[in-house]
Amino acid sequence: MTAPLYQPAVVKTLLRDRGFTLKKQFGQNFLIDGQVLHAIVEEAMAESDGEKLAALEIGPGVGTLTQALAEAGFEKVLAIEKDRQLIPILKETMSPYPQVEIISADALKYDFSALLAAYQRDFSIRAVANLPYYITTPIVMRLLEEGLPLAKMVVMVQKEVAERMVAAPGGKEYGALSVAVQYYSEARILLTVPTSSFLPNPSVDSAVVTLRMRVHAEASEVDRQLFFKVVRGSFQQRRKTLLNALAGEFQNLSKMAVSEWLKLASIDSNRRGETLTIREFAELARTYAEHIQPGV
Ligand code: SAM
Repeated sequence: MTAPLYQPAVVKTLLRDRGFTLKKQFGQNFLIDGQVLHAIVEEAMAESDGEKLAALEIGPGVGTLTQALAEAGFEKVLAIEKDRQLIPILKETMSPYPQVEIISADALKYDFSALLAAYQRDFSIRAVANLPYYITTPIVMRLLEEGLPLAKMVVMVQKEVAERMVAAPGGKEYGALSVAVQYYSEARILLTVPTSSFLPNPSVDSAVVTLRMRVHAEASEVDRQLFFKVVRGSFQQRRKTLLNALAGEFQNLSKMAVSEWLKLASIDSNRRGETLTIREFAELARTYAEHIQPGV
């Protein structure tokens, strides 16, 4: 094995020798903690049932996690890096690993579906990343919403975002992101990670989350667009009662009709969106489609 890239001295020498200056605007905080790195890789490999493993990595940086995935036995690692200056460095650090494919592209725009199509039959594919913080939510939402052939995601995000992803109803962290993540996956925080695990240190702590992909059983029966319209409406103005919030979103309905709808779903119209479970959002979508506006 070549020198582990998570060692601070190795990364520092590599960057200095290549004249590379870290770019804050690209969220470049490289992982330099071997224990955290191995916990991510172990989690990414778990539940494979002997299938061949492929990883989709967003933002490989100099290849720290990429290398660990390849060393651990991922037979294919597709690594998408936006910073063109990192591509020659990555090509060099990853040269001992023919299973690694470096893709020079913006992960916000890249066609993941076309990329993964070639692997979905023979591999169990996992998205694994130490995500650039400035695009955490849009990237995670893309990976969740696009119906990609992913078994799970194991991603490093800001701790505060991780807490919102796994939040239960009723607390201040629970919001549209929690519902979206928990609609598409079973989410849990694997571990929290201090700022000292990165070079340079970010300003806030991080956490690794595991999202096992599967649509929530109670929500899978209802129209997805309608479900998320209800969620959007319920959270848009958090201090409003459901009656007022939903009347704002569903402008085709009178307040009386919204009140009738809430009654049909057995939900108190004075409650606030942040107290609703996914099952209750699904019930609202179901009753709307069946009784309020059939055919939607
Ligand atoms: N994986 C490396 C590690 O753990 O040390 C680097 C992680 S660093 C937090 C985020 C990486 O994502 C950087 O290499 C950055 O250049 C890259 N990046 C930022 N925006 C990106 C985008 N839109 N698409 C792909 N990569 C991006």
